[in-house]
Amino acid sequence: MTARILVVDDVEANVRLLEAKLTLEYYDVLTCQDGATALLLAAAEQPDIILLDVMMPGMDGFETCRRLKADPRCNHIPVVLVTALDGREDRIKGLEAGADDFVTKPLDDLVLFARVRSLTRLKLVMDELREREESGRRLGVTTEGSRRLRGSGGRVLIVDDNPRQAERISEELAREHRPVIETDAAAGLVASRGSIDLMIINVAASTFDGLRLIAQVRSAEPTRHLPILAMVDPSDRPKLVKALELGSNDILVRPVDSEELSARARTQIRRKRYSDFLKEKLDYSLEMAVTDALTGLHNRRYMTGQLKTFVSRATQGGESVAVLVLDIDHFKKVNDGFGHDAGDEVLREFAVRLATNVRAVDLPCRFGGEEFVVVMPGASLEDAQRIAERIRRDVGSTPFRVMGGREQLTVTISVGVAATLGSGDTPDALMKRADEGVYEAKATGRDRVIARAA
Ligand code: GH3
Ligand code: MG
Ligand code: MG
Repeated sequence: MTARILVVDDVEANVRLLEAKLTLEYYDVLTCQDGATALLLAAAEQPDIILLDVMMPGMDGFETCRRLKADPRCNHIPVVLVTALDGREDRIKGLEAGADDFVTKPLDDLVLFARVRSLTRLKLVMDELREREESGRRLGVTTEGSRRLRGSGGRVLIVDDNPRQAERISEELAREHRPVIETDAAAGLVASRGSIDLMIINVAASTFDGLRLIAQVRSAEPTRHLPILAMVDPSDRPKLVKALELGSNDILVRPVDSEELSARARTQIRRKRYSDFLKEKLDYSLEMAVTDALTGLHNRRYMTGQLKTFVSRATQGGESVAVLVLDIDHFKKVNDGFGHDAGDEVLREFAVRLATNVRAVDLPCRFGGEEFVVVMPGASLEDAQRIAERIRRDVGSTPFRVMGGREQLTVTISVGVAATLGSGDTPDALMKRADEGVYEAKATGRDRVIARAA
């Protein structure tokens, strides 16, 4: 995953060093040495992340950050403030100015990359959502969504065998989130399967192996994407490296700084919320685009696309494809006699009988109203005719129960059957032949199957 990073620092040597490090990691780097230029560059170049030095003459990092966050063209770009190691005051001021996270000087490469990576991921899902909103597929982000996407009120699971440390972290987090503490790995693993937005694992714990817990959480299907913050001792480089390798999203160095904790927790929770939201909406809209809401069968749009593919394969020497067009006889009488809801029940029951009487490879679809289509890849005209007969018999022989079983209706159908003829055939011509079959079935008494060879 690559990203464009804007590096802002008044000291030329710092800029060059950062640029070199980031370029080696395949990031695209833009640089400048003052706040005013940073504002212009951010708006014009739309970087994915801004690394902003706090100490600069003229407009300092805080003011630059405030202005970036006040500009609608840039307020979605994550800002990482580069502060002094003991810059507690700076971090508080930074959060107030709207900074998303911090790195301290002297810069630790691994920590820097971890932070850049986690903010790039957040930016990625936010961009995706912005794009969808802009392209008109409104997902409701402005109303119910925005509340959910803020990154507060998260369920945070703290797994730590050091009670004082865990309590302190929990108290800090409780101002914005809902923390819970587990003191051993086994209980932590069980708790991670609950509805958790973020896990904080102490990998410096003495009574359990925190690295092993990270690996277990990462490898289990339900928690594969659960954000993890690993708490590490600053002196224990190997563990820090291992925690990142095993898939921690970011790290918290002990003793945990409360501003860093809140910034990092918020980033991780927001990213999880954004991707969950996207996933939910995407699955739903994809499903609605291909499914008929009343019967759960494929809809006409989906069927049309599939049929095109199958027919073009058939006309290029591939296996043949057959279609059935099925129309319920005198369906209007059901609506007129028993009401529209009873009509809907008949359509749903018919869909069930249709789906249970076709082969696994067949595509039963609701074409519209009381008309259904089955696309049958690999079927000849005779195969399709046989299956159509079976459906017709199953529908006509057992009455449909509607209105809570109070009424039993005998339903019959007229079916037209057609199959591909070879190189010159088209989906439209195929459907037309099947339609003519239906027409003939209706004209000659209904409740029958008519196959059209040509
Ligand atoms: P035929 O045997 O000639 O096919 O007669 P028919 O009454 O089945 O056909 P017609 O096309 O005259 O009427 C179809 C009716 O299906 C009209 C329409 O109101 C009803 N219909 C279409 N979609 C739905 C639906 O989703 N639910 C219900 N309950 N009725 C529907
Ligand atoms: Mg400086
Ligand atoms: Mg009809």
